Amino acid sequence: MDMVALNASDRIEDDLHLRSCIQCGDCSGVCPLGFLMDFPPSKIIAEIRSETYARVIRTDSAWMCIACSACTTVCPMQIPVTINVMSCTKEELVLAGNVPPELQAALENSQRYGNPGGESPRKRADWIKGIEQAIPVFGEDKRTADMLWFVGDYASFHPRVQPIQPFGYRGHQSTSKWGYCQ
Ligand code: SF4
Ligand code: SF4
Repeated sequence: MDMVALNASDRIEDDLHLRSCIQCGDCSGVCPLGFLMDFPPSKIIAEIRSETYARVIRTDSAWMCIACSACTTVCPMQIPVTINVMSCTKEELVLAGNVPPELQAALENSQRYGNPGGESPRKRADWIKGIEQAIPVFGEDKRTADMLWFVGDYASFHPRVQPIQPFGYRGHQSTSKWGYCQ
């Protein structure tokens, strides 16, 4: 067994008491993406037990996991499949360099520009332009504020979501005296 497989399986076993898995397959059966995975959750566990986990790391099965927790919910042994088996496997995929190009680009953009889309940070608050109500922007207005209304990366930059931001800000204002947006 290589070091990647040994490390991951040890970590998963330590956290999970993986031997309690009865291989019923319910986790894989309920998984919305399981039918596309070479290794759905129960198969990943089986690979760990048979010390062939390295085979899982060579596939993109874990990247298909959307962390919906359906597998964890149905598990009769109450094994936290989502936050342990699937999350650990994703970590091992990153360590092994098995990262989809789209995710790789998103990670690099986040590091370089502060958002996964690679948009200019200077344009982050451009969505407030043309809005009738003045909306203060964090860092530009020096007044103190009760609260910061943080608009996420996607909502700050995507033209289909930007128009609804003023409604969110007004709702935010109704619960606090004054606030910034970012
Ligand atoms: S549902 Fe639980 S017990 Fe059944 S195979 Fe999945 S992890 Fe194992
Ligand atoms: S958390 Fe991941 S592995 Fe579990 S059911 Fe959802 S998509 Fe499938």
